[in-house]
Amino acid sequence: MPYKIIKLKADKQHSVKRFHPWIFSGAMQPLLEPITEGELVTIKDHKDNFLAIAHYASGSISARIISFTEVEIDQSFWNNKIYNAFEVRKSIFNDDFSNTNCYRLIHAEGDQLPGLIVDIYNDAAIVQCHSIGMWQHLENIKVALLHVYKNTLNIIFDKSSETLHRNQETENKNQFIYGDKISPTIATENKLQFNIDWINGQKTGFFIDQRENRSLLAKICLNKKVLNTFCYTGGFSIYALASGASKVVSIDSSQKALEMLEQNLILNKLDSSNHESIKADAMDYIKKIDADFDIIILDPPAFAKNIHARHNAVQAYKRLNTEAIKKIKAGGILFTFSCSQVVDKLLFKNTIVSAAIDAGRNARILNHLQQPSDHPINIFHPEGEYLKGLMVEID
Ligand code: SAH
Repeated sequence: MPYKIIKLKADKQHSVKRFHPWIFSGAMQPLLEPITEGELVTIKDHKDNFLAIAHYASGSISARIISFTEVEIDQSFWNNKIYNAFEVRKSIFNDDFSNTNCYRLIHAEGDQLPGLIVDIYNDAAIVQCHSIGMWQHLENIKVALLHVYKNTLNIIFDKSSETLHRNQETENKNQFIYGDKISPTIATENKLQFNIDWINGQKTGFFIDQRENRSLLAKICLNKKVLNTFCYTGGFSIYALASGASKVVSIDSSQKALEMLEQNLILNKLDSSNHESIKADAMDYIKKIDADFDIIILDPPAFAKNIHARHNAVQAYKRLNTEAIKKIKAGGILFTFSCSQVVDKLLFKNTIVSAAIDAGRNARILNHLQQPSDHPINIFHPEGEYLKGLMVEID
């Protein structure tokens, strides 16, 4: 089917030829005819050569590319995309989902599907669209998921109203698009079990992106006293307790998250006598405690959602990390993270350096931490590299 055409200005084709998935409004010639939000469009260079097929959007990112080849965007296009993404995950997990059955199936630009997130929790697929264009393909996405997963999915749930809330068209509620079994789902991650409340939970219900960092923590916490701040439903806490930590204190400002954490302790048959859940502001709590934790985890929500908030966010990361570094025992470890896209690796590292200076402690970086390989980063879209962390030993 011929799509409406967007022509680029002379010399603006280079980024598309290098496979960058976005087209900014400044690169486009004036539209030849009206195009509605989310419509599929063909992108051409100023000499009328085909470049890509994209979803049109009216913002400064005016087109998000879903294909660099001239193909029909029909059901088999979606089936192939989902199939390819699943094949990659199968190879990541060595074709064995028995130890881990929750993972990210589609990581937007990282899977050449800008605007689409799909997370799998056992038999539930949770979909979050970040563009109207993608949202209009929900039915195709559902059919493709069922095609690829055969009979193993019982739920497909659309959670896009939270990510598309600014648009009238999607002001409907989050909705089941397949099945109707009520959340939560029990999912397995590295043999540990988690209740995933994909309806009421944050994001799609769980922070799958910390899986490998939680495994790393597990390796070093035997007989250690661990403080897990911004703990949400207790990912790091459960790993620590299951790996022999002598004591774990979990802090979050959300009572609901802490209740889920308590359920996760029971689910994993862990001894709750070495665990304490505290509803508190993480910074207030850290300021009050004695310096007797062997390990402190700082995994706050994104402090900066855009470039304008970056300066204040960096100051906030610095203050938080300074207080935490002060409270770690000599020889102890800080696991510190930022999921703010606009704070890059180097800026984050420099922020932790200043925090160590302010805390007056010597320190060394043992590991650079990041998102796992089911959150792939499109090499031409470095913005997709959002999670960064450091494992730091404090002298
Ligand atoms: N580490 C978690 C994910 C953290 S998400 C995991 O592995 O699953 C960030 C968490 O920080 C959320 O649960 C949110 O409720 C909590 N939070 C936000 N602001 C906070 C604050 N000021 N003090 C404590 N917790 C906070």
